[in-house]
Amino acid sequence: MKIHEYQGKEVLERYGVRTQRGLIAENPQQAGEAYAQLGGELAVIKAQIHAGGRGKGGGVKLVKSRQEAEDAADAMLGMMLKTHQTAPEGQLVRKVFVAEGLDLAHEFYVGIVLDRAAGLPTLMVSAEGGVEIETIAVERPEAILKLPIDPMMGLQPHQARRAAFFLGLSGATMKKSIPFFMGLSKAYLELDCSLAEINPLVITEQGEVVALDAKINFDSNAMYRHPDIAEMRDEHEEDPKEVAASRFDLNYITLDGSIGCMVNGAGLAMATMDTIQLHGAKPANFLDVGGAATEENITEAFKIILSDDNVKGVLVNIFGGIMKCDIIARGVIAAARNVEIQVPLVVRLEGTNVKEGRELLAESGLAITSAGSLDEGARFIVKAVNAKEA
Ligand code: GDP
Ligand code: MN
Repeated sequence: MKIHEYQGKEVLERYGVRTQRGLIAENPQQAGEAYAQLGGELAVIKAQIHAGGRGKGGGVKLVKSRQEAEDAADAMLGMMLKTHQTAPEGQLVRKVFVAEGLDLAHEFYVGIVLDRAAGLPTLMVSAEGGVEIETIAVERPEAILKLPIDPMMGLQPHQARRAAFFLGLSGATMKKSIPFFMGLSKAYLELDCSLAEINPLVITEQGEVVALDAKINFDSNAMYRHPDIAEMRDEHEEDPKEVAASRFDLNYITLDGSIGCMVNGAGLAMATMDTIQLHGAKPANFLDVGGAATEENITEAFKIILSDDNVKGVLVNIFGGIMKCDIIARGVIAAARNVEIQVPLVVRLEGTNVKEGRELLAESGLAITSAGSLDEGARFIVKAVNAKEA
């Protein structure tokens, strides 16, 4: 789960991490009031969307008067902000963060990511802040220091000092950076984060160590442990299909292929996607309807799959283990009647009561192609889609 920059900063402040503070605004007038309330001359208007690279796309603007603050907010609110991390059409800006303007002396990169190879959270720092870390990692890997964090012990003070030295900090700024790194690490571990990235971390002209940006992602499966964080979820920022799926406990992820997949079990769903690829097409989604899918779930799953314009055919691949194939067949038939399916539909059923299930599909009068195996099912659906497109 992702949250906005302003929420990330709120969370970090709880851990003693000094951030560029500000107020949220949903219209130009509020932005003007926020500017006045901050009280400084320099302020920054920052578009709040769940994507980075806003600066380059026109989503970060320095202002020096109330009028400029209102004008900048007016221009940003309602715009489709395009960055390298948004969809090509951009992301609608609904809120802006009006933040104190800081005089920057240095910009650094600091992030904690989960290093899956090491199986540990890892602190990464680089003196080349404000630039994308992915680019630095490829072009100048030696410019990044990586320190693995023991998840039970947390970041150690000597590691925080090493990070500070690597950035060339000394004296008072070095001293201030230690609680910054420690707080960031504590937040990451306590809140079940999957990413906590500060790009840039800045040293101001006054020698303050401040998080100018905050990008924090959480493990969605752990959100039951942090109800206050779960409340920060902004469904506007998420794929509407994935939001709908989460309401019905469907594990759904949009992909960019043309074959919609409805499968029970994550492993079987992965195998189904692979087999579709093997036969020359690409899956439009990952979908695991779970082991206890009901008729209602299956109907909703069909609706979600078919709401995607890229879907040119659907492959249902269900193994009736705990569930029986005849019950699944009834669900598929009811769903197919309920949701008008205009694209080829191939169903592969296997398991308990498979004979009854296949009979029900055959007798339904619906244009459903039954497949005897996963390989056959994938072959049938790819062929049907190609035939329709030819
Ligand atoms: P991103 O582009 O989405 O990553 O947004 P950031 O929050 O990182 O802001 C982009 C850039 O705007 C930063 O790298 C800074 O260079 C600049 N910026 C943001 N706030 C300030 C500020 O208070 N003062 C100055 N001088 N620059 C700022
Ligand atoms: Mn940034």
